Amino acid sequence: MKQLSSEAIERLLGEGIDPIDWAKHHFGDAHWGGDSCGCPDDRCIGHHHSGDERCQCLRALIDDYHAERS
Ligand SMILES: [Zn+2]
Ligand SMILES: [Zn+2]
Repeated sequence: MKQLSSEAIERLLGEGIDPIDWAKHHFGDAHWGGDSCGCPDDRCIGHHHSGDERCQCLRALIDDYHAERS
């Protein structure tokens, strides 16, 4: 089971999103089931991008999240 990285948590907090709410939004509870980069796809790192690259999924997902709540 992966945990959100501190970078992912910082990115979420910087967008005004509680990481707990982020987990709930994608998985229905506070338990994170995605990848450490913040993408709900637990194979994001290595598939969507490499480990030393910033996650682009997270950017798009954050935008969607805000759009849904506005
Ligand atoms: Zn991804
Ligand atoms: Zn990612």
